[in-house]
Amino acid sequence: MSDFKLEAVKCKQCGSGLVVEVNDNIVYCTSCGSGFEIINGEMTPIEINFASAAIREDGELIYKPFWLLKTNISILERKASGNFLKNIFGGSNDNTSGEIIFYIPAFYCSLEVMKNLATQFTIKNPVASPQKYNVKLTGFAYGKEDAKKLAEFILISMEAEKSDVMKNFNYKLDFTSLEIVGIPFYDKGNGQMKDALLGITV
Ligand SMILES: [Zn+2]
Repeated sequence: MSDFKLEAVKCKQCGSGLVVEVNDNIVYCTSCGSGFEIINGEMTPIEINFASAAIREDGELIYKPFWLLKTNISILERKASGNFLKNIFGGSNDNTSGEIIFYIPAFYCSLEVMKNLATQFTIKNPVASPQKYNVKLTGFAYGKEDAKKLAEFILISMEAEKSDVMKNFNYKLDFTSLEIVGIPFYDKGNGQMKDALLGITV
């Protein structure tokens, strides 16, 4: 059985050896900062950047991959609803379209944790200027199509806080770009970690 053999993968850009963990379909080259999505064995370039820590804490700093989905959303029909779009579009109820950047965890976590992180990061949009770091980024569990579905799930779940809203919420969601951003977390050593931007413990 050779199913679990790790392949020696080389960076298409600089030729450095890359460490690919089992199930990781996205790899980051720490030598040159290139990112690749492995699709049917082919390495397709994908933008990968990192956020810098804003909060100082004890514990080892580790980076977890998030999808950054830039979207254009048009609201076609909406009745009394949650505050998500109101918050994101700047407090006006009259806005019917705008840009939203969704932050969707790309690493494995429970649905509850995913929803909490995605919602708070998406509302606060805390990564102003992502940059290249020479750090390890592994543990990708969700691909592009998963990320799109999860972004839509977050949109609907936040907008439909009040249960009577769902049937009246019609929208058009266009994805303009999908990138990866490494978000710093402090490993608290007890199975918990706390993100170094918003201070959310998961
Ligand atoms: Zn490289």
